[in-house]
Amino acid sequence: MQTVSSTADLDAIDSMETVLAVRDLKVVFSGFQALKGVNLDVGDQEIVTIIGPNGAGKSTLLDAIVGKSPVASGQVIYHGQDITNKNSHEIARMGIGRKFQNPNVYNDLSVFENILLALKGNHTVFSSIRSKMTRLKKEKIELVLDQIGLLDKGYTKVASLSHGQKQWVEIGMVIAQDPTVVLLDEPTAGMTADETHLTGEIIKAIAQSHSVVVIEHDMEFVKQIAQRIVVLHQGEKLAEGSVGEIQSNPRVIEVYLGREQIDSAA
Ligand code: ADP
Ligand code: MG
Repeated sequence: MQTVSSTADLDAIDSMETVLAVRDLKVVFSGFQALKGVNLDVGDQEIVTIIGPNGAGKSTLLDAIVGKSPVASGQVIYHGQDITNKNSHEIARMGIGRKFQNPNVYNDLSVFENILLALKGNHTVFSSIRSKMTRLKKEKIELVLDQIGLLDKGYTKVASLSHGQKQWVEIGMVIAQDPTVVLLDEPTAGMTADETHLTGEIIKAIAQSHSVVVIEHDMEFVKQIAQRIVVLHQGEKLAEGSVGEIQSNPRVIEVYLGREQIDSAA
């Protein structure tokens, strides 16, 4: 689908390297087609936001990319290489990092230790704590803490952080693995308005050096971060385009935005 409005935009997209491409992807769960042939392109340092009603297949799409949902047909191509149905650890190692809906952090450890555990090559709590704390590792962890806005909370136990701050720790744990592509599933779920806004700023900063795919519901947040939006509905791509194009698309209003507006007015 063509989503650009000017020649300048066209040139920009032509010159943008595609880092991740999903081609005609189908995922079937015991006869139920959760994805019915979805295409997606993610460029270098681009933020792609995925929206759509519950059950649209958004999480399944991210699962399929990282090898957690079996792909029935179609391809996932990463830097030109077919990674369809590869082992999820292998995909993570290749550079696709995924944050799940619920924070998966170590509450009894400090923020610093959580990031340390996530660093490449640190496979267990034991090996991380025992391995030498080099200056390079420390600097790397501090860089991550800075990116997630928690530099002053490095020695705080994760248990005493707010829900939003825990989500940032988990984003930090993804970044610590040095991914090229970061996939975030509803990163602002349960956050306050302030935390949601800060999350948007964190994601924009991360996108300076990563490609980011974000699943999100909150339209204010989508407007804050979005460059290109993909709308999924019943396992298919319903629309793709800029915030303005999506907000004025009659089919998107009918199946998704209209309902969201009614929900938020209720
Ligand atoms: P979204 O994230 O857009 O809300 P999901 O990708 O979680 O939607 O789910 C899409 C559809 O696939 C839903 O109908 C859901 O019930 C179904 N589904 C997701 N995961 C599984 C699974 N592991 N087994 C069976 N059905 C599933
Ligand atoms: Mg989901």
